[in-house]
Amino acid sequence: MSEEKSLNFIEEIIETDLASGQCQSILTRFPPEPNGYLHIGHAKSICLNFGLAIKYGGKTNLRFDDTNPAKEETEYVDSIKEDVKWLGFNWSNEFYASDYFDQIYNFAVTLIKKGLAYVDDSTPDEIATLKGSPTEPGKNSPFRDRSMEENLSLFAAMKAGTYQDGEKVLRVKIDMAANNMHMRDPIIYRIKHAHHHRTGDQWCIYPMYDFAHGQSDSIENITHSICTLEFIPHRELYDWFIHTLEIFPSKQYEFARLNMTYTVMSKRKLLQLVTEGHVQSWDDPRMPTISGMRRRGYTPESIRNFCERIGIAKRENLIDVSLLEFCVREDLNLKATRVMAVLEPVKLVITNYPEGQTEELMCENGPDESYGHRKVQFSRELWIEQEDFMEEPAKKWFRLAPGALVRLKSAYIIQCNHFLKDAAGNISEIQATYIPESKSGSDTSEIKVKGTIHWVSAQHALQAEIRLYDRLFNAENPSQEEGDFKEYINPDSLQIIPKAFIEPSLLNAEIGNHFQYIRKGYFCLDKESTKEKLVFNRTVSLKDAWAKEVKK
Ligand code: ATP
Ligand code: MG
Repeated sequence: MSEEKSLNFIEEIIETDLASGQCQSILTRFPPEPNGYLHIGHAKSICLNFGLAIKYGGKTNLRFDDTNPAKEETEYVDSIKEDVKWLGFNWSNEFYASDYFDQIYNFAVTLIKKGLAYVDDSTPDEIATLKGSPTEPGKNSPFRDRSMEENLSLFAAMKAGTYQDGEKVLRVKIDMAANNMHMRDPIIYRIKHAHHHRTGDQWCIYPMYDFAHGQSDSIENITHSICTLEFIPHRELYDWFIHTLEIFPSKQYEFARLNMTYTVMSKRKLLQLVTEGHVQSWDDPRMPTISGMRRRGYTPESIRNFCERIGIAKRENLIDVSLLEFCVREDLNLKATRVMAVLEPVKLVITNYPEGQTEELMCENGPDESYGHRKVQFSRELWIEQEDFMEEPAKKWFRLAPGALVRLKSAYIIQCNHFLKDAAGNISEIQATYIPESKSGSDTSEIKVKGTIHWVSAQHALQAEIRLYDRLFNAENPSQEEGDFKEYINPDSLQIIPKAFIEPSLLNAEIGNHFQYIRKGYFCLDKESTKEKLVFNRTVSLKDAWAKEVKK
């Protein structure tokens, strides 16, 4: 088997460009619009852009595509920087498209002087009507033949604030009959009297996406400008501007965006989930945002590994979210400290264990010896999981039941003798005896048991709130379903266990630590946790519960 991974199509292009001398080294960029928090789809673009630069000894710029003043905020800029860093990448330069407003304005003036741009007074409706359709050529605007001098003075007046929003636009003069609708005299500047998060009230005209993105690429000398497939029809215009303005020849390449099951991936939709209160915040652990995944306990390595596995393609597809969860488990298996926690407790009393006695048992911290050990207190009264006891055991039940023997993890073998029920008929206490010579590590009992269950000492345990998360949507592809995507929100995506019992070592848990609650899954401390009220998130269960369901 060859270890060598085949190149993806963008790597092939880069290797050709480097070999032919088309470029000496590569410069990529990640260009988020600061109008929301980054999601896992952006992680794919980040891993691709930064990953290529790392692989080929090039550089990557972080460029905020902030040409739309109304929707952009500094909060988003800060969160984006934090997320890119957390994913493990360093940008060479932090740039803002708004830094180039003067240069972009001058590019527009150049086009006017070349007779290739004109101010249009038509209404948006008139412009749309004259644009034609994919099957029908458009018609020239009555303002298309304004003189260069008139266009220059009108455009200056637009900039000076003489006109209201929408009164005039600047368009380039290409071809109203072009097959590509984007080439039918596209608008490049619009009037918008709005406060911008960086330039304040300095500008009341703003360049459109197509007249900002490529120009910014070119100003920065970006060699490979990588974007998602929906920009294919924009490429002709991207090239036209570069050619006409005679600026640095950046090239645009397109790859398939990431779509993932049981979630939505557009900032607009994610914003709705936040503002309408379907989730708590952008970093709600159920959100597909990078900050949500971080809070939930996903690691940067697992996200990078996921992006590596899904690869780069030219055709859209839908990736199963369980692949991401698989990558998270794989990484946490190696990183998480093993601890014991009882989520749905019932009391277990070991009737032959001396009252008041406590022992410190050695428990392994990880999947093998190399992770070291920690001390865990054992005493007469323990908490165990309700689900580990069955009054009338099913076939092949190896856990606790009347008369049955099990091992308490890292401790002793016990035998259940008796149980008590409360008035409602629920099991309120289980009683057992322990076998002193069966202690883990020095077991001389020669008794073989098939089941091992976890526990915490009642006297030593801490209480914690545990938050269990499930998929945020019930539909595989909520955006493609009929009606509003919010109709498919899973009402049970958050389950709160107000009072679980956890081992005392967890009092020292810190944000960023990862734990495996033995037999229960991977957990991490939530940012709302305090020493008085501990709160843990379940990052992911130990097994894929959904995969089992499908098999049934
Ligand atoms: P959204 O539709 O979620 O608002 P966007 O494309 O408007 O996303 P930008 O901030 O413009 O968000 O995206 C920054 C970069 O991330 C762009 O290069 C964009 O192509 C890329 N990107 C956005 N969503 C995805 C995705 N789902 N998969 C891969 N790349 C993506
Ligand atoms: Mg965008």
